[in-house]
Amino acid sequence: MAKLKILEFPDPRLRTKATPVEVVDDNLRAFIGDMFETMYAAPGIGLAATQVDLHKRLLITDVTADKSEPHVLINPEILERDGVTISDEGCLSVPGYYEEVERAEHIRVRFIDRQGEAQEMEAEGLLAICIQHEMDHLDGKLFVDYLSEAKRQRIRKKLLKERRHQSAAVVL
Ligand code: ZN
Repeated sequence: MAKLKILEFPDPRLRTKATPVEVVDDNLRAFIGDMFETMYAAPGIGLAATQVDLHKRLLITDVTADKSEPHVLINPEILERDGVTISDEGCLSVPGYYEEVERAEHIRVRFIDRQGEAQEMEAEGLLAICIQHEMDHLDGKLFVDYLSEAKRQRIRKKLLKERRHQSAAVVL
């Protein structure tokens, strides 16, 4: 397994709309293993393939503290959503920022699992929020898109500035 590089806002590749996964094979399963290693190391509770520069409709989550509930959702589709929940969200592609975002409280989702089998599941609370957040990534959308333009530009400038400092440090 290998850790993958996570793209960071405002990297234009994060705006790519992912295309459906056509074949679930050992190559894809190996990549999913790398995604879990990357997510757990970050640490994060969800990761979309878009964030590691694979523009296929695939996301993983594990909202537990002890890594006991890994989920792999391939070609996910939300069948039902109800209720409203507002929580502070962060994102591995927007490091250091947490802002309130409104999501459906409960969802029912259809997807293909890592064996290539069609599945359906219900999710609520943090897991439902996480799946909705990761599905946005597959459509090229980031949680900062729910914020005001001014706030998004402020975050963009700060992250670009921090990255310049980081690369300067590497050169030295
Ligand atoms: Zn994210």
